Amino acid sequence: MKLAVLPGDDIGPEITEAALSVLDAAATRFGLNLEFDVHEVGMAAHRRIGTTLPASALEAARTSDGVILGPGGMTAYPPREDGGINIPGTIRRQLDLYANIRPARSRAGVPRALPGLDCVIVRENTEGFYADRNLFQGYGEFMPTADVAISLRLITAKASHRIGRVAFETARQRGRHVTMVGKRHVLQVTDGLFMRQVEAVAAEYPDVTLREIDVDAMAADLYTRPDQFDVILTTNMFGDILSNQAVALSGGLGLAAALNVGDGHAAANAGHGSAPDIAGRGIANPSGIILSSALLLRWLGTRSGNNALGAAAAAIEASVDRALGDSDCRTRDLGGEGDTKRFAKAVANGLRDKG
Ligand code: ATP
Repeated sequence: MKLAVLPGDDIGPEITEAALSVLDAAATRFGLNLEFDVHEVGMAAHRRIGTTLPASALEAARTSDGVILGPGGMTAYPPREDGGINIPGTIRRQLDLYANIRPARSRAGVPRALPGLDCVIVRENTEGFYADRNLFQGYGEFMPTADVAISLRLITAKASHRIGRVAFETARQRGRHVTMVGKRHVLQVTDGLFMRQVEAVAAEYPDVTLREIDVDAMAADLYTRPDQFDVILTTNMFGDILSNQAVALSGGLGLAAALNVGDGHAAANAGHGSAPDIAGRGIANPSGIILSSALLLRWLGTRSGNNALGAAAAAIEASVDRALGDSDCRTRDLGGEGDTKRFAKAVANGLRDKG
């Protein structure tokens, strides 16, 4: 099974290396045949060949069984016409990765983890308020005059329906409960369309319950009643905000895992940014990208019917849980004494020990 690996910028290469060491240990333990096809991207590639996303890296992503994507330092990129290409955005479009799956779970021993939180945010990934993706031609934010600014939000029946299906399928693997989030009485047309599509999907899943909640109430309830949520389904921008909130409530941004999924492809990438402030110091928390890689293995296992992949994913998650509970291994963003390598080693050793 070939995985394209694009380490990204800043802390990207450090945490990606950590994730690969864990995947290697999982491959040995579970007899997986994993091959890593590593491609330099980001500013390192730009310095060498003038683009942050070489064509060979994009082709590898397209032809591999799955992708592992380190965070990109977009803010330091030159303009697009000078080779500063948005890596996750391009891969998302080219591979039609329309769903962004972002789990958040509080683990024993992690400081500040909110008890009772164990949810998955299913975020629509292709439209919404994102100005770069909501018009066929042109840009979804503009100024008719110097003191008037307008932003468009795109919601389609097709995208709403297919993300709804991902949420209900995800709920079937978990607690069979979906909370759809928006602000239907204010955004009557757009959230109205989104939610009607979700309700149509819900009719096909009588074993899964559906509830609607306003995004402002959700922000509060996630903190005050975290145990009420299982799968949280929402549009792009609300999902971006709520998933950061949820993962922060679980202990911190360094725990953020994400899987971008389409019908035929998936890309694991940490849900946090490239953290330039701590890059190169060996202290970044690799949990997010390790957990994202586990999500990718689980997705590959479901697709291929190879149970060893799902078992490997579960073992990685359990080993991460144990390492996070140990303050000698945990990185300092979570109040621990560990660093990137020590944490990855503990997770890998946890797999070798058959724990
Ligand atoms: P982006 O806009 O690219 O999503 P951001 O502005 O949200 O990025 P991040 O790069 O995610 O910012 O970093 C926000 C803060 O969280 C920084 O202080 C960073 O050091 C910290 N942080 C992010 N990821 C990690 C990690 N894996 N380990 C430790 N600290 C992290």
